[in-house]
Amino acid sequence: MTDVLSVASECAPLIKTGGLADVVGALPSALMQEGLRMRVLIPGYPAVMAQLSETRSVLEDPDLFGGAARVLAAEAADLDLLVLDAPHLYDRPGGPYIDESGADWPDNPERFAALSWIAARIGLEGVTDAQAEGGTWRPEVLQCHDWQAALAPEYVHAMGGTGKVGTIVTIHNIAFQGLAEASRLSALRLPPERFTPDGFEFWGRISALKAGLTSADRLTTVSPTYAAELMRDDYGGGLDGLLRSRRDHLSGILNGIDETVWNPATDEHINRTYRSARGKAPNTAALRGAMGLPEAEGPLCVCVTRLTEQKGIDLLIEALPRLLRRGGQLALLGSGEARFEDALREMAEREPNLAVQIGYDEVLAHRLIAGGDAILVPSRFEPCGLTQLYALRYGTVPLVAMTGGLADTVINANAAALDRGVATGVQFHPVIAETFGVAIDQLCDLYARSDLWGQLQRNAMRQPVGWGPSAQAYAALFREVAPAA
Ligand code: ADP
Repeated sequence: MTDVLSVASECAPLIKTGGLADVVGALPSALMQEGLRMRVLIPGYPAVMAQLSETRSVLEDPDLFGGAARVLAAEAADLDLLVLDAPHLYDRPGGPYIDESGADWPDNPERFAALSWIAARIGLEGVTDAQAEGGTWRPEVLQCHDWQAALAPEYVHAMGGTGKVGTIVTIHNIAFQGLAEASRLSALRLPPERFTPDGFEFWGRISALKAGLTSADRLTTVSPTYAAELMRDDYGGGLDGLLRSRRDHLSGILNGIDETVWNPATDEHINRTYRSARGKAPNTAALRGAMGLPEAEGPLCVCVTRLTEQKGIDLLIEALPRLLRRGGQLALLGSGEARFEDALREMAEREPNLAVQIGYDEVLAHRLIAGGDAILVPSRFEPCGLTQLYALRYGTVPLVAMTGGLADTVINANAAALDRGVATGVQFHPVIAETFGVAIDQLCDLYARSDLWGQLQRNAMRQPVGWGPSAQAYAALFREVAPAA
């Protein structure tokens, strides 16, 4: 059996701000089916600590970046967890990365360096485990998610452990690098000789992500198209050259979804469960009722999203009149930048066919995905994207920008795909308001043709969106990087 420690700053259902959490929470059970054991190391934020019942202290650190810390082993939500209990770093109000006013915690570099440091220690020393051989459990591989865990491979080398544990950095979003001022080099326990352009220096600052990308055995990201895009200067966030130089060590493995949580046949959150797209109608009616939308001629479109420029919210606002002119509607759930929240709220006040709910609401997310005719995902870049995958499963036709994982998971309804009966949605490119508007027109035309629309819905619901092949790909990679016994 190969043992893996997955290291991340969030993990659903315990703590989540985005898709990263879903993936970290879903991978262990997907990999169990491939014969791997995966434990998950996350920080002990108050929200996480409150969900732990029985815990055992399995590793101690008297001086972890300014205070005493310990690692607690616990089981919660079917996950085999290691929780870094470091009150001086994590026991505070607010979110995982931000305080109550929404500002980044100034010591975020240290907070996540600590997570990475402990991950490296576990990779080299292991943790106490009565059931393991010799009373110690030690992973053969560290999977380090995003910048928050990306210093772990660097620390493995610094601790003299090169080759003793396999290391993988998984990029969920290259836009976040975890930059810190050069003056923090020794506070972050980083080797000064690696503070060079070939190491982890990024334009005069320390880049946690770059440390991982230069020092891990293998790099992965969450879709094949994003892997290719990352090597281009318009998507690579300044790290494209480095990624090109490591292209033989970089792979794109598509995210899956948790098919027990997102299943229209068993979903407890929705008005009426269903097995075929015909069963969507009561959910659509209930959604209109709940969001205060009237009956309409055109499609009821939905969005469940962070409200940021990455997600193309400005394009959505610009293209919306086109949907409304065609008799369509939009029901949106999201939170994020104030300028987008305000603009959407204001438009919704004036426009009866637009309903906007600002906030984070897991149950409403399910109701939107089930009740919508179509989902809109106009992202400027999208490493994988999960909501279009949920939508496919629920027979909700995705209209998406042709980028990253959106390009890999939706089959555009062009003439050839419609002729062959394989289309699942609509794609547009380049990602600008004009092409988005054209795609909205195309969506409305398809919606008006019940034969074609039915074909899209059926194809969507048949498309595999689970972890199967991706779990196999991860398992193969983990076995490859595990040190020979
Ligand atoms: P990202 O991680 O970039 O935000 P993804 O599409 O990969 O985008 O994942 C977003 C996840 O967060 C999905 O599970 C989605 O359902 C969820 N989500 C986003 N916004 C909200 C919201 N306002 N309420 C509930 N769930 C949300």
